[in-house]
Amino acid sequence: MNLITEAAKALRDIGKGMAVVSRAAEKGKHTNLYPFEMPEIPPVSCQSLALIIEADGTDRCVSCLACEKVCPSQVITIERTRNPEGKGFVLERFDIDLVNCMYCAACVEACPVSAIVTIQDFELSTYDLQTLKADKAFLDEQGRRAKQWYSPKLGVEYRNEQGEIQVAPLEQQPGGEAELLKQADKESDN
Ligand code: SF4
Ligand code: SF4
Repeated sequence: MNLITEAAKALRDIGKGMAVVSRAAEKGKHTNLYPFEMPEIPPVSCQSLALIIEADGTDRCVSCLACEKVCPSQVITIERTRNPEGKGFVLERFDIDLVNCMYCAACVEACPVSAIVTIQDFELSTYDLQTLKADKAFLDEQGRRAKQWYSPKLGVEYRNEQGEIQVAPLEQQPGGEAELLKQADKESDN
């Protein structure tokens, strides 16, 4: 390749690069000045895991062990004892090693009662990895602090000002806007 051909190729590549940059600029801003500007995290994103405590203080978890069995990384440890007062179990221990968790959310999908959920909180960086060996108190606290959370069975849920748990309206659910449009189409056809 002679010098002129090389220069022409370089100019063409620069032109292509500039075109990509200007197309991106037309679409608007893509970056946030984190931590001064918080990025918008989609509700269905597994940034971390939490356990949900009902408004009356009871565990939603029924100690069925489904999440522990399904976890491909084997990072969930549950201990339970028979409920001396009746049916079911008493949850004695619920740990997740969040360092070795791969955030696949298989546990969340397996849970029959939406007790373990995905949350949007991505700010768990720490110098002390031991703090990410999450025990039940840690996972409960994550559930209490979460602005909203997600499970495939109940969708997006949140706590209202009275501390009651509510399922978010359809427009705030994943795919909800598309569903509303479909419903509106059907109504206009009738
Ligand atoms: S997200 Fe995946 S790896 Fe992490 S605890 Fe759940 S099933 Fe295990
Ligand atoms: S699958 Fe759900 S209910 Fe069963 S032990 Fe796990 S968190 Fe608890």
